[in-house]
Amino acid sequence: MKRIKGINVLKAKLLDFTEEILYSLTCELQRIGRTVKFLELKYSPFCDEVIFYMDAIRLDENAEIILDTSFADASEKFLRSCISDLEINFFGLIDLLELLKGVEGKNGILPSIFKPVTGEYITHEQQDREAWVCLCGNMPNYNGFYACDEDGDLIEPGNEWEYLYRCEYCRRVINDRNLQVIGINLNPNSEEG
Ligand SMILES: [Zn+2]
Repeated sequence: MKRIKGINVLKAKLLDFTEEILYSLTCELQRIGRTVKFLELKYSPFCDEVIFYMDAIRLDENAEIILDTSFADASEKFLRSCISDLEINFFGLIDLLELLKGVEGKNGILPSIFKPVTGEYITHEQQDREAWVCLCGNMPNYNGFYACDEDGDLIEPGNEWEYLYRCEYCRRVINDRNLQVIGINLNPNSEEG
């Protein structure tokens, strides 16, 4: 339900969003395990004034996100500072996360992007609606199924939960309401949020 929100509440929401996206970006960079050049990505999500000065993104030794830059007076800049200088907006940050999720990690670690699937349904044993059988053959008593979000990342079932489970063997994401496979994320996050 909508309710009127004051300045402090809205400000807090923006700060929350900033911290959450920085954390998600940090996790992707940890997974990738190396510096990512913007030339490797489909595009750069920074604003026009600075886009040509942003060369690469990486984590520093304190796991802070840092950009290698080619400004006349600076060769690096914290992503956090780019956000406060309005060099990337909130949708740009989400684009950045999506772009990084598509990058394969060091040692061939898979990208962690969710790919939609249509027309697939899992089945269950004849007498038992709970005894799921995934298309890969996984069942609750083998690798099992765990509550996840729309990206296939683990979630504690609660208010925001959309009745989705992921197969712990093949990483298909399944809608509990109709047993439809909505997609697959071959390398989802396994930390419970
Ligand atoms: Zn499966």
